Amino acid sequence: LRRCLHTCLCDGKRYFQLCFSRKIRLRTMTKAILVLNAGSSSLKFSVFELTHSGALTLLAKGKIDGIGSTPHFTVKDQLGVSLAHEHWAADTLIDHAYCLREISTFLRQHYQGIDFIGAGHRVVHGGIKYAAPLLLNPGIIKELESLIPLAPLHQPHNLAAIRAVTALNPTLPQVACFDTAFHHGQETVAKLFGLPYAYFERGIRRYGFHGISYEYVSSLLKQQQPAVAAGKVVIAHLGNGASMCAVQDGKSVASSMSFTALDGLLMGTRSGNLDPGVVLYLLEHEGMDAKQIEVLLYAQSGLLGISGVSSDMRELLDSSAPLAQLAIDYFVHRISLELGALAASMNGLDALVFTAGIGENSAEIRRRVCLKAQWLGIQINQQANAAADICLSEQNSKTSVWLIPTDEELMIARHTCEQLGLPIAHRILN
Ligand code: ADP
Repeated sequence: LRRCLHTCLCDGKRYFQLCFSRKIRLRTMTKAILVLNAGSSSLKFSVFELTHSGALTLLAKGKIDGIGSTPHFTVKDQLGVSLAHEHWAADTLIDHAYCLREISTFLRQHYQGIDFIGAGHRVVHGGIKYAAPLLLNPGIIKELESLIPLAPLHQPHNLAAIRAVTALNPTLPQVACFDTAFHHGQETVAKLFGLPYAYFERGIRRYGFHGISYEYVSSLLKQQQPAVAAGKVVIAHLGNGASMCAVQDGKSVASSMSFTALDGLLMGTRSGNLDPGVVLYLLEHEGMDAKQIEVLLYAQSGLLGISGVSSDMRELLDSSAPLAQLAIDYFVHRISLELGALAASMNGLDALVFTAGIGENSAEIRRRVCLKAQWLGIQINQQANAAADICLSEQNSKTSVWLIPTDEELMIARHTCEQLGLPIAHRILN
């Protein structure tokens, strides 16, 4: 250790990291949880160490994106120091299973002595049945396959990651955490569509998504601001995928996303809320089939579709193209409408919380949303907003505004430990 610290002083943080990860960890068996979040063209992973005191500490976080085109592999350690940054040649054989083998090889090389005791997965849809995280077995995996039509762009990839882990290590316990689970307790009226009731019973209902993020953010709010968390809160998860959720006393009351992850807010490439008559019109009068409409609604709409410039909010904010500005205006407009609706679902609003990529990083979007929500008693403190403080509202603001970075991976790691019967420290933050 003395030699490592000495080298650190000479050669900087990076060497210190390497000393720690490669040499010291070699001598002790580190218990760790692997968390996987598989998308259509990406595989994100995090490795959490479970310490003797029961705390979960991030060791590494990485992702492979561009699966199916030109894969790009990046990994950072807990301090954000880059451990890998590779562009791979395009190869149709590179699928989720291949990527998982590469991740496994990388982790074995960098974290020798690591003992993976479980893997936790983000699974988008739990259907009517699954209201909580659960330990997977072949029967459950089969049931989750039957939900693919409800989340065609996410569920197959979540399941591919589960199968890839099984192939690599058949005895490793795997836990599924569902994005729909947090919303399970909503009242029936919040889950209904105005279709004949028989459709509701067949599972055609509002489920809501981003539940792992909402669960994490509301737990953290409860830990840090218990009085606020006990009230009427709207959480705005504004990322590439975006939704909002009314949370009262820590429980989901209503959500902007519904049957699929298409409904609600405008997203990076997804349309959000749409008159169903538009789909009928596209089918009958524009000569489009279901597959073409799926591509239009999931991949060609949203910020990208309106602006014609990009799905990335940073690029739109930097762009002077009129349609880029229109896309941002509509993004904010939809948030304002959903905020009003979700406040109505709770008969009031005590706090608004921003989270995820845009919510955490764009002071400009937060400012615009808050200005449109003055009628709800929101007064933003411009300085606090620009500085990305935790509390963003003026002291005398009737409704408070907060910024809480989400951490879906930590939430999944916690649930994985719980499902494996491993004691973890009570506090969500380590
Ligand atoms: P997801 O997890 O759904 O893929 P993220 O939560 O990572 O998405 O959010 C991605 C979005 O966050 C992108 O639109 C990106 O432009 C936006 N974003 C990230 N940083 C900033 C920033 N500094 N300003 C504005 N938008 C940002």
